[in-house]
Amino acid sequence: MIIPSEEKIGIRNEVMSVSKRLSLVGSSPTLAITAKAKKMKQQGIDIIGFGAGEPDFDTPLHIKEAAKKALDEGFTKYTPASGIKELKEAICRKFKEDNNLDFSPEEILISCGAKHSIFNAILALCDEGDEVILPSPYWVSYPEMIKVAGAKAVILQTTPKENFKITPQKLEEAITEKTKLLILNTPSNPTGMVYTKDELLSISNILVKRGIWCISDEIYEKIIYDGKEHISIASLGPEIKKLTIVINGVSKSYSMTGWRIGYAAGPKEVIKAMSNLQSHSTSNPASVSQRGALAALEGSQESLNYMVSEFCKRRDYIVKRLNSIENISCLKPAGAFYVFPDVSRIIGERFGEERIEDSFSLAEILLTRARVAVVPGSAFGAEGYLRLSYATSMENISEGLERIEEFIEKLFTPHRSNF
Ligand SMILES: *Cc1c(COP(=O)(O)O)cnc(C)c1O
Repeated sequence: MIIPSEEKIGIRNEVMSVSKRLSLVGSSPTLAITAKAKKMKQQGIDIIGFGAGEPDFDTPLHIKEAAKKALDEGFTKYTPASGIKELKEAICRKFKEDNNLDFSPEEILISCGAKHSIFNAILALCDEGDEVILPSPYWVSYPEMIKVAGAKAVILQTTPKENFKITPQKLEEAITEKTKLLILNTPSNPTGMVYTKDELLSISNILVKRGIWCISDEIYEKIIYDGKEHISIASLGPEIKKLTIVINGVSKSYSMTGWRIGYAAGPKEVIKAMSNLQSHSTSNPASVSQRGALAALEGSQESLNYMVSEFCKRRDYIVKRLNSIENISCLKPAGAFYVFPDVSRIIGERFGEERIEDSFSLAEILLTRARVAVVPGSAFGAEGYLRLSYATSMENISEGLERIEEFIEKLFTPHRSNF
């Protein structure tokens, strides 16, 4: 028997190590707190969770019925890798009706969730070393996807003063020879901000002038308040349309996160490249889910309207409560189901022996001391903020805010011995 020397084991370990590309990709920064919250819940501690990234409503009945019917009909085999024709046609009709955008079915790709469409699009557009302009606060997966593609994220920091939106000037300044792509997300996760037509026009002018692509993530299109209008940047003219991949899906609007159906629309050649990649990686999105998505787009929108009206009440409440707490300030979001309060005045404070170093340690201490789970702003590239999802019941929101308020009040009372 040959016993390998330590040196050889070392070599072998190296051989077995993960690729350089994937060693750069981190696990979700929110995972640690989510795991801790889960553990505390299992121990019987009652935690109010503000972490949800999905609606707390059930998938509407007529959508479930359509999927059941598909099963009963034996619609359980591979479909075309880029999705079924009926659903592509329904998506084209949706684009025409909602966004005044003309797409043909060859310009549509149906994927296993919008996330999958975005991933395909980034890989289809970016070469090694390309720069991708990414406004911050950003959705957590964008930077990691950019890394997998071998591209480089150029972060454009925004502030509440600018309503967390990039300005044309900032965009111009960030552009270099290597800039390939801008990722836009409106309505935004995590800030809930919505770009106006004028703002998108000035961004679009720059992109067209410089020949820069845009991935426009419009997954929260339908979750929008106060009669505000969602504008797709692709609808602002034929030139910008040629440079844009529009991303959308059914996960958020129809409470279908587990069904995994999202889609992309854009120029044929890019959609073709994305489909090719998908055909060799996941093949088609689930057959039955595609039938469900078809029912979602074609059927009654009543459940969606109800959900949005409920979200709107919760938003009004949570924003008001947060702003009534001293040392917290929060913009009123116009879409999605998150608030992104500024907590920078709390950071640096002491809680007994513990110093609140950053948004992560604030989230940790809120979990252990106030029994509320929130996501630190650092996960979205924005230190000094927290993200709270209001995709949870009004009772939970009320109780959770009570706990946060009580904690912050204690923190700022001079009698630290109270602890
Ligand atoms: C939830 C979410 C997605 C992904 O949605 P799926 O269709 O479930 O993959 C994409 N972008 C943003 C900003 C999201 O919040």
